[in-house]
Amino acid sequence: MPTYGGMECGGTKFVCATGDDRGELLSRTEFPTTTPSETMQRAIAFFQAQPGTLAGIGIGSFGPVDLNPASPKFGFITSTPKDGWRDTDVAGAVRRATGLPVAFDTDVNAAALGEARWGAAQGLDTFLYLTVGTGFGGGGMANGQLLHGLVHPEMGHIRVPRDPRADPFVGSCPYHGGCLEGLVSGPAIEARWGQRGETLPPGHPAWELEAHYIALGLVNWICTLSPQRIILGGGVMRQADLFRRIRGEVTALLNGYIQAPEILERIDAYIVPPALGANAGVLGAMALAGAGCGRMES
Ligand code: ZN
Repeated sequence: MPTYGGMECGGTKFVCATGDDRGELLSRTEFPTTTPSETMQRAIAFFQAQPGTLAGIGIGSFGPVDLNPASPKFGFITSTPKDGWRDTDVAGAVRRATGLPVAFDTDVNAAALGEARWGAAQGLDTFLYLTVGTGFGGGGMANGQLLHGLVHPEMGHIRVPRDPRADPFVGSCPYHGGCLEGLVSGPAIEARWGQRGETLPPGHPAWELEAHYIALGLVNWICTLSPQRIILGGGVMRQADLFRRIRGEVTALLNGYIQAPEILERIDAYIVPPALGANAGVLGAMALAGAGCGRMES
């Protein structure tokens, strides 16, 4: 059975692993995201130290990323607001250092593919994988294909209504201020309330606001993409009560219009956490390598 490498490039940490075609991990490591050169070197050293030969390495990265194989910047992280990471060649650096075929996609598309193969989206062909953490990312599949397009979806940067009397915080996105990411990401929570999300108790008003904005995003995507399920991951979603609040808000906002029993009767199984937990990203990256995804280069 072939073994694959998977690399999840996050804004806070990197996860690297190897595993097989059944989604079983053989080795795994994680380390904080520091400078591009130091972080990439640690990732490459992990793969170079693996015994035997990997069939390929899949990379799921925070973005924006360049996914166009014809572009000179294919495999790069491009216009990220993250310090020092603008225009960083990720896929090319791994390919040159290891000589292995490399598949490259967004972190959320990779995680979506992992959930489709081994997790909460098995048997589905149209679903979303969203992550709320350092940023707000969105990926998934439509009709069995990972979402790509002109660049790739940037669901975190949609605009949702904000009532300045209820929420005077103008948002933290350096590009848009109060886009969805600018209102609900971990840094937005910290900027609005003066403390980190994990220190806010479950009854804090932060969570009602958080659920409201996330639900506004969800109903927009439910109405545009008609997903069969929505998977919500990321550090902010570890506040477990958020799921109950978001499901309630989504139900209220849709107001009975979408006549699907999945939403009307079984919303607990419609808006769900990742089944692969903290390994969704890195397993998804391995799945990318296994699938080739038409985006492998050697
Ligand atoms: Zn934005």
